[in-house]
This record gives sequence, structure tokens and C-alpha cells, in this order.
Amino acid sequence: MKTLGLLGGMSWESSAEYYRLINTMVREQAGGFHSAELVLVSIDFATFEPLLAAGRWDAVAQRLIQAAQDAVRAGAEAILICTNTGHKVADEVAGAIDVPVVNVVDVVAEAVLARGFDTVGLLGTRFTMTESFFPDRLSRYGIRTIVPSPDEQVDVNRVIFDELVLGVFRDDSRSALASLTQALAARGAQGVVLGCTELELLLRAHDTEVPLFPTARLHAAAAVQVALAP
Ligand code: GLU
Repeated sequence: MKTLGLLGGMSWESSAEYYRLINTMVREQAGGFHSAELVLVSIDFATFEPLLAAGRWDAVAQRLIQAAQDAVRAGAEAILICTNTGHKVADEVAGAIDVPVVNVVDVVAEAVLARGFDTVGLLGTRFTMTESFFPDRLSRYGIRTIVPSPDEQVDVNRVIFDELVLGVFRDDSRSALASLTQALAARGAQGVVLGCTELELLLRAHDTEVPLFPTARLHAAAAVQVALAP
């Protein structure tokens, strides 16, 4: 089994979910007492979030490169950046290490194509919804992305940073996100990408009729395939 390197803490609420999902899937697929071989490098989110807020992407890249190099030194043979937002600098991270980065956007694209879809809505942090890194990479696969209106983006970003990364899960926020998936579907989205790794902790498949693409779960599943590949 290959050793996975998780860059976590962004936030740890979703890193814990990655750890649970990866180990659950390894046990299901490898059987017996098997569990994942992995290294977790966990960043203090209080030192990371201000870099995002200030748009200091060079510093974000440096912090993630350092974490990735630490993980590789500790034995990681494939890296997961356990945040969608961090994927803005995923190529820089990949270029700084000798092991592959499992890119969450590629993983999502494959899942979208497997459903036969070509148009998806995207919910995430304001960075993920406004910057081009996510839609541009999906477009390489022929997938079109629809993002919420500016006002709706403010609401989604507020739920992520004022609630979910702090471990706060509210029914009214869940309902608001569910309505947003319907609104995106009404604008042509065949499914909605939960493009922030905490969103799926709040919004589940049964909360909306719109098909969801939960990025932490899909990313974890792709990592397990890598880890267990012969
Ligand atoms: N976990 C989040 C994501 O997937 C948001 C936190 C962050 O900005 O890193 O984008």
C-alpha cells in the first residue's frame, strides 16, 4: 500500500472527515484489519486564513509547498491538498515535489463525466467561486460551471467561514444551501459541486433533489485508489 500525504487543517473539521473516509474505504476495499498508511501535515488555520483573505497567493503556495515537502520527507508517496481553495496553487505545489498531487478538480471532473453531465453549479469559498482555477480546469474536460450570484456567494462564504470551519452546523444554513442548489439547477446545472471540503459536513444528498458532488469524499476515494493500486 502506498503512503498518502494529507495537507490538512484547512480546516481540521474536514481533515478529520478525510481521515475517517480514507480509512473506511481502505477497510472496505482491502478487508480485514487494513487501514490507511498516511501522513497528515496539519496547518494552523489561524495562520493560513489571513493569507487567503489578503490574496497573498505566493505565501499560500509557499506554506503548502512546505507542508507537502514535510509530508514527502515523512514518507508520503502521493499528496492531497485537503481544501479546494488551496488548489489555486496546486500546480505550484506539484512542481515543487517529486510525488504526484491528486488534484481535486480532476477528480470532480471525472465524477461529473461519469454521471454523463456537462454543466455543474459550484459552491465554495468566495475564492473558489470567483477565481478561475476551478472552472478553467473543469472546462478542460468540456464541463461548464455556473456560480451563484454575488449576493449568494457572500452567503455561502459566510456560512463556511463563520460556521463550518468553526464546527457550527445550523439547520437554517443547510436549508439555504439546499435552496441554492435548486437555484443553480434552475439556471441549468445538472448537479452541484460542493467545492469546499466542509460543505458536505452540512449538506447531504438527501437534503436536495439536485445531484451533489462532495469534494472531500470524491478526493478521498481517488486517494484510496492510488494507495491501493498494485
Ligand atoms: N476547506 C475549504 C475549501 O475546501 C475552505 C477553507 C480554506 O479556505 O482553505 O476550500
